[in-house]
Amino acid sequence: MGEHLADHTTLRLGGPADWLLTHTDPMAWPDISHAVARQHGIPMVLGHGSNILAADAGYPGPVIRMATQGITARSAPENKVDLTVQAGHSLAELIDFTVAEGLSGLEYLAGIPGTIGAAPIQNTGAYGRQISDTLVSLTVHDWLTREVVHLLPRQCGFGYRTSSFKVYPARWTILEVTLRLRRSDRASPVTYQHLADALGVPLGTTPLLATATEAVMVNRRERGLTLPSSGPDARQVGSVFLNPPLTPRQAEALRAVGGALHQTADGVVRGSAGWLLQHVGYSPGQVLAPGVYCSDLRALTLVAREGVTATTFAATLQKLAAHVRAVTKIRLCPEPAMLGVIEGDTSLAAVP
Ligand SMILES: Cc1cc2nc3c(=O)[nH]c(=O)nc-3n(C[C@H](O)[C@H](O)[C@H](O)COP(=O)(O)OP(=O)(O)OC[C@H]3O[C@@H](n4cnc5c(N)ncnc54)[C@H](O)[C@@H]3O)c2cc1C
Repeated sequence: MGEHLADHTTLRLGGPADWLLTHTDPMAWPDISHAVARQHGIPMVLGHGSNILAADAGYPGPVIRMATQGITARSAPENKVDLTVQAGHSLAELIDFTVAEGLSGLEYLAGIPGTIGAAPIQNTGAYGRQISDTLVSLTVHDWLTREVVHLLPRQCGFGYRTSSFKVYPARWTILEVTLRLRRSDRASPVTYQHLADALGVPLGTTPLLATATEAVMVNRRERGLTLPSSGPDARQVGSVFLNPPLTPRQAEALRAVGGALHQTADGVVRGSAGWLLQHVGYSPGQVLAPGVYCSDLRALTLVAREGVTATTFAATLQKLAAHVRAVTKIRLCPEPAMLGVIEGDTSLAAVP
């Protein structure tokens, strides 16, 4: 109680939470959910806060910080293994576990901060893979029906960095995630050119699990995609904008000026949000507003430094998106979730 959201978000921004509970014991969930619903209403959920911009004024409703831990393994057909993981478990620790146990499927998500319970929210992914690729089911609390239910992937509306959980925030709290992995010391085929180049192998190669995760970590570090524990770039949420979908005409115009484009698993052609920012004049290390900078390694990661507020950070996102829109007619949408009401922000999710 009386805790500051800044202590639970990687941007270290956010005022007080009126009521914040850290949930650690899965067996206690029935009592907790009942008491929360009766006394406080529907809660917002926090994982490690690595994809959240929390308001300076804080959050007036209940907040549950998911800190449950644990992995249960069960054999599945065709030499596979189902892992059921508590929502508060760290994704990085889960990946270390799978590599040590010779379980293939999560290796390309190495280096992404956060909890496994948050990964389905934006269908967290990297290097051509996303969490929905290995998902078997989710155990969720549905605050509308007040029941704990199991959801299959096809019920979750997964897409590129999105899901039904993102579209209807707060309706479901994810309690457990079940993933199906392959027993193998070999990674899934490399589908991402940058990584293939870093490994010095052709696309489609299946490196050893440990080789694949090591290459991912090195590549992420070089590109400024890991979360430093201290230093000037430590306060961040990674990329601040999603790669925008392009109309055929936008794609053509972007290609004509040498723009970076790629097709995502959903078949949609997207522009690179980082390239667009650089194209309109932003560059790594640039000062954007008091306490808001582009990270030292990439324009698309905005970092918070001395003197920043959530309001300034949000206004900077708006300013950047409006600039890109004015020059290219392409709309950028912020990636992090907004928690609470950010002063002056009425339209962050749909920058005009
Ligand atoms: C350096 C850096 C690199 C990153 N790289 C990537 C990347 O490569 N790919 C990528 O996709 N993302 C990336 N991210 C963003 C982020 O790490 C992921 O989205 C991650 O999955 C968020 O986990 P979290 O526990 O921190 O979630 P939080 O930030 O705590 O929460 C994110 C959202 O999920 C909701 N939520 C959290 N837990 C639950 C739950 N149990 N039930 C219901 N709702 C919940 C929250 O309410 C919020 O809306 C990066 C971030 C950083 C800082």
